[in-house]
Order: sequence, then structure tokens, then C-alpha cells
Amino acid sequence: MQFKSFIGIATLCTTLFLAACNGDSNSNSTQPQEQAKLQPIVIQGALPVESEKMAAQLENATVEMIGEWKFWKGTYKGYPVVISKTRMGMSNSAAATALAIQHYKPIAIINQGTAGGHDPDLHVFDIVLGKYTTNIGAFKTPNKPLGGGSNALEWNEAFDVLPDDESDPEPIAIRKFEGDKELLLAAYKAKPNYSKGQVVEGTIGSADTWNNELDRIKQFHTVYGTSVEEMEAASVAQIAHQFNVPFLGIRVLSNNITNNGAYDPATGEACQEYALDVAEQYMKAKAAAK
Ligand code: SAH
Repeated sequence: MQFKSFIGIATLCTTLFLAACNGDSNSNSTQPQEQAKLQPIVIQGALPVESEKMAAQLENATVEMIGEWKFWKGTYKGYPVVISKTRMGMSNSAAATALAIQHYKPIAIINQGTAGGHDPDLHVFDIVLGKYTTNIGAFKTPNKPLGGGSNALEWNEAFDVLPDDESDPEPIAIRKFEGDKELLLAAYKAKPNYSKGQVVEGTIGSADTWNNELDRIKQFHTVYGTSVEEMEAASVAQIAHQFNVPFLGIRVLSNNITNNGAYDPATGEACQEYALDVAEQYMKAKAAAK
């Protein structure tokens, strides 16, 4: 009798244990457990029109302010995600990146948002995946005397602000940060879902400048190989590189004066949708590899 009841309890325990295992391995219910082990992916946007749509799609979101930098922390389809509003420009986005890396220890960073076209073959709503991201605002200019004027088309020496040799007094080079391969792979998986334009690989150029001189734009396109320009991605790439965090720039053309592409603010939302999709694909692959 005693023995029997022991078996009964053992069977009950086994059944409960199996039920727990089954529940876990069956379907979606394992995912939250697996996903919870992943560090969050950070997706940045400079402005409210480039970040709030994503933030609104997070589940269980909490808002965190660090100084003037806003972060929404939550989950998207069960994966941990932090949306970061960096504000505009190179300094703001660098600071937001360093803060995010220290505070959230992200698995990867996507910098996304609007951009102006440098390539006449690209149109408003097309998306550029940053195979390369580069600073187009750092130069050593030629010498000219007082009264000699200034001509940016003659600024032929790019200044590398992150030289390997820090004692080099004139680090003249175009530095290109490569987009992370796994993030690019995720971007290709998400590509079929984007129907508002093309999705192409290219070079993103960044500076605290809005260029409207067509000769200057053509020069960047030719010399740096830029597809688009904006004001944050290269700065983020530079910081992520120094912390060894995987990075990808994803930019939608909101304007392209090389082919009369008029500014369309709806592009900001379209890019956010796509970036979330890329993040989901990336996290899915990471969870499966665990
Ligand atoms: N205030 C405007 C947009 C600001 S423009 C609005 O109402 O939408 C500057 C921001 O847009 C920067 O964050 C930059 O990354 C991006 N951007 C879009 N097109 C750009 C271009 N042609 N040149 C530089 N930055 C551009």
C-alpha cells in the first residue's frame, strides 16, 4: 500500500514534470524563456517621426530618460527591444549610443531614419542598407591666404577621426564602417515585406550638414560612393565599433534633389516598420542559435 502510493506520487511527479517540459517545448511558450536570455537590440531614430511609431509597438514598455535622451524598453513579438530617440546630429547620436551600450548592453544596434539621396537611381521611399557608413564632414582643407575664398569642391582630403595610429598628425583617409553581416542577413529576410520601394545595399554618408549643392553631392557620390546622406549613422557606427557592438545603418530616402524627389514625411514611419521587422528577424536567428 505504501509502495503503491509512492509509485502514485512518483507518477504524478513525472506527469507534472513532463507536462512542464511539454508546455515548454511545444510552441510559443518556450520562446519567451529563450528570448528572455537575449540581450536587447537597440533601434535608434533621431526624431519623434523616426522613433515613436516603433515605441508604440512595444509590449510592456517603460520609458527611461538619461539626461535628455529618451529610451523605451520593452518587447516586440517577445524579443527584448530598446527604442532610442537620439535627437539630431553626430554628437547627440554618439552620446545616445554610448549611453545605450553602457546601460542596456545591447546585442546589436540599428540606426535608422530618413535621408537625402545622392544616387539619382534611388527614389523617395527606397531604403539603403548601410554595407558601409562613413563620415562626410571631416576634412583637412587646402591652404588659402586671406581673401583666397573657400571652395568645398577642393576639399580633397578626408580626415580620419579614428586613426589606428593616434600619433599620426595628419590621418588622411576615408574611413568606412562595415555593416554587420548578420544584421544585413536579417535585413534581407525582411526585404520581401517592404513594398513601398526598393531595398538596396549602399554607403551612408553622415555629417552635421544638409547638402543642397548638386556638384557637392555628385562629388560625395563619386569619391565616397555615397548613396544617401544624413546626420547620425557614421557617428553611431564609430562608437559601436569601439565597443565592438554589431551595427547596421538603415536609411529611407525622404528626399532626393538629384532627381527632383520631393520630401515626404511618411517615409519616416515606413522605415520604422521595416527596421522593427529587421530586428525581429535578427533576434529570431539569435534565439535559434542559442
Ligand atoms: N525637421 C525635419 C527633418 C529634420 S532634417 C522634419 O520635420 O522632418 C534633419 C534630420 O533628417 C537628420 O536627423 C538627418 O539624419 C535626416 N535627414 C533627412 N534628409 C537629410 C538630408 N538631405 N541631409 C541631411 N540630413 C537629412
